[in-house]
Amino acid sequence: MFENLSERLSGVFDRLTKQGSLSEEDVKTALREVRVALLEADVSLPVARDFVKKVQSQATGQAVTKSVTPGQQVVKIVHDALIEVLRGEDDPGALKIDNPPAPVLMVGLQGGGKTTTTGKLAKRLKDREGKKVLMASLDVYRPAAMEQLAVLGTQIGVDTLPIVPGQKPVDIAKRAKQQASLGGYDVYMLDTAGRLQIDQVLMQEVEDVRDAVNPRETLLVVDGLTGQVAVEVAEEFDAKIGISGVVLTRMDGDGRGGAALSMRAVTGKPIRFVGLGEKMDALETFEPERIAGRILG
Ligand code: GDP
Repeated sequence: MFENLSERLSGVFDRLTKQGSLSEEDVKTALREVRVALLEADVSLPVARDFVKKVQSQATGQAVTKSVTPGQQVVKIVHDALIEVLRGEDDPGALKIDNPPAPVLMVGLQGGGKTTTTGKLAKRLKDREGKKVLMASLDVYRPAAMEQLAVLGTQIGVDTLPIVPGQKPVDIAKRAKQQASLGGYDVYMLDTAGRLQIDQVLMQEVEDVRDAVNPRETLLVVDGLTGQVAVEVAEEFDAKIGISGVVLTRMDGDGRGGAALSMRAVTGKPIRFVGLGEKMDALETFEPERIAGRILG
């Protein structure tokens, strides 16, 4: 994640920090390159523009160009601006799951990594927080998807709701809620059906499920490799369903990372986790300091 961007920026900043003194023109030239690097990383244009404008206003002041290490000052300003643009929850990994059984709704398009992420999160809650988790697949259109969740459950040692053919998603959700109460579960995770693209039927179905269980967290799982499209998908889901956060998957394959940089600024919603592989423990919390450090090397 971010390898390409990181490489581009380190080129720009190496040149800047090697120069003894900097003119305002030097800083402006460097920031133009930063803007290009951001756009090449598929960061949305308004976000890249705002970012550079903010850095520029702080970096072209006397204090920077007259300082002993002006290049490093600029890097520090960029670092802080990155944290600002990535800013999310104070503790992104802390799901709101007090008051058991807490419903967690997983939404997103088909193939985005929803079922895999449901398993990863369930495992994390079980292993790290000792939670008793129940998972239920609401994908009535794809029996294979229901089966996939059951297989994952067995693999990670997390219970899944028994499959009852012919039930509607809302009824499965209600059954999960009941089972979670009766069985003394802390959390029940609902893995909703995805579509290849957003459509009215899908949204209505997810809305009905949401209204039936009143989720504590609604996490949108979206493929980070799709860049700005991921951000658009998040905007649409948030407008229709209301999401509490985003999980960006396939970040192990994304050297650009643009979706991660634009998500918060465009949608106002925090990235909570990133998926970094197919394995059940390939999930990390999204922490701006660490990410900014990774980008700036
Ligand atoms: P769903 O249709 O949204 O439920 O998607 P799945 O969970 O079935 O995932 C689709 C494919 O993406 C599967 O082959 C997963 O193993 C893979 N996948 C999910 N998350 C990640 C990730 O973070 N990194 C990588 N490399 N693959 C992932």
